[in-house]
Amino acid sequence: MSDYSFFKQVNQAFDAAAQYTSFDKGILDQIKMCNNVYRLSFPLKRDDGSLEVIQGWRVQHSHHKLPTKGGVRFSMTVNEDEAMALAALMTYKCAVVDVPFGGAKGGVKINRADYSEGEIERITRRYAYELIRKGFLGPGSDVPAPDYGTGAQEMGWILDTYRQLESDINAEACVTGKPIPQGGVRGRGEATGRGVFFGIREACSNKEDMDKLGLTDKIEDKTFVVQGLGNVGYSAAKNMIQAGATMVGVAEIEGSIYNKEGIDLHELMEFREETGSIIGFGETEELESNTAVLTSECDILIPAALENQITEDNAPQIKAKILAEAANGPTTTKAGKILTEKGVFIIPDTYLNAGGVTTSYFEWLKNLSHVRFGRMQKRFEEGSYRKILNVIENSSNRTFTEEELQRLAKGADESDLVDSGLEDTMINAYGQVNELRKKHSIDMRTATLLNAIEKIGVIYNQMGIFP
Ligand code: NAD
Repeated sequence: MSDYSFFKQVNQAFDAAAQYTSFDKGILDQIKMCNNVYRLSFPLKRDDGSLEVIQGWRVQHSHHKLPTKGGVRFSMTVNEDEAMALAALMTYKCAVVDVPFGGAKGGVKINRADYSEGEIERITRRYAYELIRKGFLGPGSDVPAPDYGTGAQEMGWILDTYRQLESDINAEACVTGKPIPQGGVRGRGEATGRGVFFGIREACSNKEDMDKLGLTDKIEDKTFVVQGLGNVGYSAAKNMIQAGATMVGVAEIEGSIYNKEGIDLHELMEFREETGSIIGFGETEELESNTAVLTSECDILIPAALENQITEDNAPQIKAKILAEAANGPTTTKAGKILTEKGVFIIPDTYLNAGGVTTSYFEWLKNLSHVRFGRMQKRFEEGSYRKILNVIENSSNRTFTEEELQRLAKGADESDLVDSGLEDTMINAYGQVNELRKKHSIDMRTATLLNAIEKIGVIYNQMGIFP
């Protein structure tokens, strides 16, 4: 058994940041600890009639804000330590992007591919039922979201299960990342990856930092490698490419591929859909293992699969100048030290993948307010813009075509508002963290956690302790 503890690593990073604050040790301990840990098991009747015991967890890390919030993961790596670490990261992440939630995380220890769709539905519903029975699911208590191995479909099942057991007018707000007809918000699916892109773009636009790395401050000059083409990795890669960057390497479960001239994402996805693998795609070279691409030549490395991928074993060989942590905890503490000493610029998970929870917050607000964003004002805005454009036409020789009028006078709809809210959040949070980084001459990870600890510590200090 390895003595690796993800939670311990998160706490080591926490301690490194906490030394720059003046909070009492008691307050710091209160922030660090997990408030509630719920371990559950239940029987699953398999399609062939046999019975199997399924294990799951839900951890609520901090109640300084309610509800608690965090994804549900379906993976064989799920265990109590992982759930605690990921719940803690959620607390810090929410604080960094000023989302008023405490952190939580859940997981079910299964390999998704071993179960039929019907079995996955039964597992999800029973898991939700167990959470509801113990007060671990509800719009004001604990609100799950998708994570590794889960998506909109599972969130829809969780909502439906909650609805059947509780008569709650705010039921839709009990889970985020839902399908749109069940109260999901437009843009949630792509939000984490899009936020990853906004974060990388912020980092790359800082000329001083890029000069130190020997890079330009233009995203279109960058090459990148992505590990994991799932929800987060695919959307991050798509946005990077749209902004002009070149994807030179990809890792998936089945292996990794590289082409320094660039890889077409859309065609690669079609190829994988047809063949079930990324191997053999176009002009790409197949590398010896699925981790080999992590150490290949590129400017930006984007791990977007699971934790513990960049370790002391492969860190010395990493050639990327920027490590953009789209996944949660992809870099071990030792690897992080090696990379920082090598001068690699690490954009940490706690900030970089916070776009998912930010958009989940928008979805939760939409569900509580029972109205789609933009519904009340879109047409009014369009009318106002048209009036302004008419004034411009009347006071100049310019006449707008109908196509121009439609484009210029477009009122903001739900996806526009969600996207601009996400972009604004990622830019603001980067600014806050960067200021602390410069003030204390520390790395981005320490500055991100420091930002979170300062915000949470103030709340605990003011709150006092319930007898
Ligand atoms: P996902 O299940 O949609 O995608 C993960 C991808 O990684 C899959 O395509 C899988 O095949 C691939 N993969 C698995 N093992 C691999 C390996 N060894 N090498 C290469 N590829 C491998 O999951 P996701 O939702 O995209 O989550 C990815 C990471 O991002 C996780 O760490 C998760 O905690 C984090 N995250 C997700 C969200 C979200 O909104 N989904 C939000 C914040 C953080």
